[in-house]
Amino acid sequence: MGAIIEIDHLSKQYGSGTKALDDVSLTIDEGEIIALLGPNGAGKTTMISIICGLVVPTGGTVRVGGHDIRTDWRAARKLIGLVPQEIALEPFEKVINCVRFTRGLYGMPPDDAYIERILRALALWDKRDAATRELSGGMKRRVLIAKALSHQPKVLFLDEPTAGVDVALRREMWQVVGDLRREGVTIILTTHYLEEAEEMADRVGVIAKGQLLLVRPTAELMGEFGKKTLNIELD
Ligand code: ATP
Repeated sequence: MGAIIEIDHLSKQYGSGTKALDDVSLTIDEGEIIALLGPNGAGKTTMISIICGLVVPTGGTVRVGGHDIRTDWRAARKLIGLVPQEIALEPFEKVINCVRFTRGLYGMPPDDAYIERILRALALWDKRDAATRELSGGMKRRVLIAKALSHQPKVLFLDEPTAGVDVALRREMWQVVGDLRREGVTIILTTHYLEEAEEMADRVGVIAKGQLLLVRPTAELMGEFGKKTLNIELD
């Protein structure tokens, strides 16, 4: 399959002088699930934020589906869905309306058949008429994913989908990612946990201090390093 994301010599220096991202290059293929693994402050959110147009890079280029995010932003943005770390939902709105509304924001025509499909894929169909404040934490996260998928993007970004959730919820998220894989969605997720990367991703990119230290198929990485060594290197 062809490349959907092409990151070339990407850098970001915030005003303070911190090099949050330092000359990162990475190509992600359509249909792939890649985990960006790294400790706090490694640069994972910065990388995702640049690709999603929330942060301006200091150097380098990013192409999404062949569209340069700087010069061809509208086309690139349509291909991207982002699930941010924080849960922010309108508390009194019905689940299905939240998803319909987000689709409308992207200028997409209504398509209730598609919305039903994603709500079913995310095990939310039975809750479609519930107000979001009535949902459990795990369900709220799934509504965020449904919103991010509402405009039928080719790539889904999940920024620390399991941060601050209990073991049961983490397993639930792993399951959701597995289901989305079957739908053919390309997924880029960030995590602090190697076991999580191992569970969900085809490839793992290890980021520390703004640098992409290595990118390997998950199985190869596990064989080469093992959990212990890798954790020590990261901490
Ligand atoms: P975490 O796992 O904690 O989310 P991360 O890997 O996503 O961390 P980033 O949030 O990208 O890391 O941060 C990378 C570096 O950039 C850190 O040193 C951080 O303090 C710095 N940084 C992030 N955002 C800003 C900002 N808006 N202004 C200044 N520095 C920032």
